[in-house]
Amino acid sequence: MTAAEAPGIDLLIGLDLAGFRQAVLAWFDSRGRVFPFRGTTDPYLVLVSETLLQQTQISRGGPAWVRFTAQFPTAESLAAATPAAVLRAWQGLGYNRRAINLQRAARIVVEELGGIFPRDVEGLQRLPGVGPYTARAVASIAYRLPVGAVDTNVRRVLGRVLTGDPAGLSARELQAAADELVDPEEPDDWTHALMDIGSTICRPVRPLCPDCPVAMFCRYAAGDRPTGVSSRPVTRRTRRDGPAGDFTSTTRWLRGRILDRLRAAPDEAWINVPAPIGEHDLAAIARSLRAMERDGLLELEVLDQVTAGAAGPPSPRARLPIA
Ligand code: SF4
Repeated sequence: MTAAEAPGIDLLIGLDLAGFRQAVLAWFDSRGRVFPFRGTTDPYLVLVSETLLQQTQISRGGPAWVRFTAQFPTAESLAAATPAAVLRAWQGLGYNRRAINLQRAARIVVEELGGIFPRDVEGLQRLPGVGPYTARAVASIAYRLPVGAVDTNVRRVLGRVLTGDPAGLSARELQAAADELVDPEEPDDWTHALMDIGSTICRPVRPLCPDCPVAMFCRYAAGDRPTGVSSRPVTRRTRRDGPAGDFTSTTRWLRGRILDRLRAAPDEAWINVPAPIGEHDLAAIARSLRAMERDGLLELEVLDQVTAGAAGPPSPRARLPIA
């Protein structure tokens, strides 16, 4: 690949690539973190770990991976389960659509691909819930393909090393550079190592440059930062988040409480979802229920009590999906 084809790789000109790789991998050999999910190259088990870790802290992700894979040790077992069982197993991990997408991916592998996971980034990315990062993480760890998995932590490390500023690179440039940097002999350790450096040393605020194995290659550490670049983390909030600290006013909170109720119900039982829940009225609950139905998180039935002669507005009933 030439610099013209992938603009990011011209950033590597002048970089001691062999030295950079050696420094990263030597550090990982002695200082890399040990987690139960790092001992496997089974693409299903790797996909479970990467899905779990997308939005769950790694300290919770490890035990959660052990529990989840004990209950669903293979793609076949996950595909055969009811979505209700999968959602119950996912309890406490949040972002429940990840669980539904994980099961959809397992069903595609089992029912359409003969039980064989795609062996390349493009094929992996066609599975539900698998984006560019997850596809590359699975490809590099399970199949040892030399592709660069770029998450927030890796973006920060490579951005600081190559330009002094994570915001100084476009996503395309960064991906091209990440793909070129991967150690072709040990892409699995490379992926783990960059994640560890990003989360434990190259912290968003006050990175630990004196302890960093790539400090000698790093433009940020050399003080080569664009003017005006702050070392403060960027916190992105949306209007849907509501006021700071007011999590109970969010749709996410409401969806979590609805799922709590459905998880607590007996298998296959429909339950009423009465209003209010917290400060959310019936209209807000109905909107969330419909959105959750579209996401595959529940089955929904609306009983028109007015038509049935009862007073009050329609009363939604729901249950966890059973098929
Ligand atoms: S030297 Fe500092 S800024 Fe550069 S990658 Fe290491 S921790 Fe991050």
